[in-house]
Amino acid sequence: MAFFLLLNLSTNWIFCIVTDTSNNDIEPPLDPVELSSWRFCSDCKKHEPPRSWHCKICQSCILKRDHHCMYTGCCIGHWNHRYFLMLLVYMTYSSTYVTVLTFKYIWSYKYDEFFNLNTIFKLFCPVSMLVLDSASFLPSCFLLPTCLNA
Ligand SMILES: [Zn+2]
Ligand SMILES: [Zn+2]
Repeated sequence: MAFFLLLNLSTNWIFCIVTDTSNNDIEPPLDPVELSSWRFCSDCKKHEPPRSWHCKICQSCILKRDHHCMYTGCCIGHWNHRYFLMLLVYMTYSSTYVTVLTFKYIWSYKYDEFFNLNTIFKLFCPVSMLVLDSASFLPSCFLLPTCLNA
């Protein structure tokens, strides 16, 4: 199960990055009536198909551009939208899987420590550790201002 998730997560991510989303391979139509619906991009200096949008970071026009993704470092458009959506699906699914697996592991090994009101409260309100944990109170005094500044 974990291998299946890792495989799908990584391949969709890689395909999302390596897929060329630019309009470089699309030639403008020869028919002037059809060409009139195309937009002229002043940055690319050529006619671009309808529903394409110029990305200033990619320096290219992207067909059905959704956004410039900072996690993949490329634009999400018509040609890689499918990989991006599958990446989101598998990322959500694998995050849930890892969370459940981690909870099960902690539950089985540290049942007494895990299943008490103090721990559950700390899970949902981590700031309470400042007051509740005497051992971590002093380091927290130094860490908190650093965290707040970041
Ligand atoms: Zn352009
Ligand atoms: Zn872009």
